[in-house]
Amino acid sequence: MTSGKKKKPLLVMKFGGTSLGGAERMQAAAEIVASHTAQAAIVVVVSAMGGVTDMLIRAANEASHGDRGHWKSVRQSLAQRHREVADQTLSAGEQAAVLPRLAAQVTDFENLCSGFSLVREVTPRAMDTLSSLGEVMSATLVSAILRSRGFAAVAVDATELIVTDDEFGNATPLVEETRARTQPRLSALIEAGIIPVVTGFRGATAEGLCTTLGRGGSDYSGTIIGAALDADEVWIWTDVDGVMTADPRLVPSAHIIPEISYRESIELSFFGAKVLHPKTIQPVMKKKIPVWIKNSFNPSCPGTKIGASASNGKPGVKAITSVSDADLVTISGRESLSFPRLATRVFNGLHLEDVTTLMVTQSSADNVLCFAIKHADWGKVKSRLSKTFELELLHEYVGPLECMSKIAIVVAVGEKMKGTPGLAGRAFGALGKRGINIIAIAQGSSELSISFAVRASDVKEAVRAIHEEFQL
Ligand code: ADP
Ligand code: ASP
Ligand code: MG
Repeated sequence: MTSGKKKKPLLVMKFGGTSLGGAERMQAAAEIVASHTAQAAIVVVVSAMGGVTDMLIRAANEASHGDRGHWKSVRQSLAQRHREVADQTLSAGEQAAVLPRLAAQVTDFENLCSGFSLVREVTPRAMDTLSSLGEVMSATLVSAILRSRGFAAVAVDATELIVTDDEFGNATPLVEETRARTQPRLSALIEAGIIPVVTGFRGATAEGLCTTLGRGGSDYSGTIIGAALDADEVWIWTDVDGVMTADPRLVPSAHIIPEISYRESIELSFFGAKVLHPKTIQPVMKKKIPVWIKNSFNPSCPGTKIGASASNGKPGVKAITSVSDADLVTISGRESLSFPRLATRVFNGLHLEDVTTLMVTQSSADNVLCFAIKHADWGKVKSRLSKTFELELLHEYVGPLECMSKIAIVVAVGEKMKGTPGLAGRAFGALGKRGINIIAIAQGSSELSISFAVRASDVKEAVRAIHEEFQL
C-alpha cells in the first residue's frame, strides 16, 4: 500500500449482521475501519444488526394479519437494541444528534406496521421499505461511532446510489445508472476525506421506490458499490475465518481455503454456502476486483481471497456444500409425448413461475424427467404443471406428478475436478460405505461440481463422508 502523493487504494468493507450484533461488535467494526484508514480510502457497507431483518419481516407479516400487539413489542426491542448501542458507544454530542434520528426511524417502522394492520395487507413494495430499515439504523449508528472516534463519516442511504429494476424483494441493479449515481456522490466524500457508511441490502428504482436485493443481499451491495467505484478490493467481514471446505456448522473439522476462484465461489453460494449471497461475485468478476472474506472476530487472520484464478495445485474437490430443504419432482410421459416436448413444456412452466432448478436428470428411454427445486417452490410448480398438462393428465398421457420431499442436494465443488477421473466413484463409495442412499446424481454444466440428491436426514453424514473421502 502506498502513501504520500500517490492515491491511496480504495477498499469497500462490508460488515454483516453477525459482525454488528451489539455495541461491542459495532465498536470492533469501527476499530477495523479505523486501523485501515492510513493505508486506504474506505467505503463501508453495513447490514442490519444480527436478527433485526427477521424481526422486521415477522412484524410486518403479523401486522398484516391484524395483530397489533406483536409489532408494538417489536417496536420496543428495535428501539431498545439500537438505543443501547448509542448509549454505550457515542460521545455526548453524537448521542444528541443521533438519538432523534433513531427515534424517527422507529416511528417509520411504527407508521408502516400500523398501515399494514389497518389494510390487513403488506405489498412486496412496502415490505422492502420496512425490511431494510435495519440497515438504515445500523448505518446511522456505525457512522456516528466513527465520528465519535474522531473520523469524518457520514451515513448514505443506498436508495440514492443503487438503481434497480422493480422486482421488489429480489431486485437486480442497473449497472450504468448505479455507476452514474454512485461515482459522483461517493467520490466527492472520499476526496474530502469522509468515510461513507452505506446501507446494504436496499436500492431503489429509477423513480425512487425502495427495493431490496434478496435476503443476505448486503454482500451483493458491497460488490455493486465496489464495481461502481472501480475499487481495488472488496472485503466482506463476517463471523468465520473465510470460505471453508464445508459449512462449519455441519462439519466441525472444516478448514479455511486461502484462495478460491470466482467460479468456485459462485457454485458454492448457489448451492447454499451462506457465507456469500449467490449474486455477490457477478459485479466484480469482469473487472477482476478481488473479494476477501474475513473474520471480524479474528481480524488478523488473512481470510479467503476470491479472484479470477486460484493457485491451488491439488486437483479435485475443494469444498462441499448442501441445500437441505429441497423436493425432487418426477414427471413421466407416454411414448406419444416425446421427451423433448415434455421437457420443453415443463421448463417453460418453471420459467413462467421464476423457479430455479437445483438439479435435473432424465431417463429418455422411459420418458421420465426428474428435477430438484427448493421446497418453498413446490406449491407454484404443482399448480403450474397441473395446468400445463391438464388434458394429458386427464387422459393419462402424463403420469401423476410425483414429489419426494425432505431431500438434500449435496454438492462437491472444485475448479480442477474437470478431467480428474474417478471423483464421482470415490464420492459414491464414501456414501455407500456409510449406507447413504443416493437418490439422483448430476454433474454441473460448468464441470466444476457434482451434485448428489440424498434424504435430508442423511445430509450431515453425507457432507462429512465426502469431506473425509477427499481429505479436505
Ligand atoms: P453475515 O451476517 O456476516 O452476512 P452469514 O451468517 O450470512 O454472515 O454468513 C456466514 C455463515 O455462513 C457462517 O457463520 C457459516 O456458518 C456459514 N457458512 C456456510 N457454508 C460456509 C462455508 N463453506 N464457509 C464458510 N462459512 C459458511
Ligand atoms: N439484513 C439483510 C438480511 O438479513 C441483508 C444482509 O444481512 O445481508 O437478509
Ligand atoms: Mg450474509
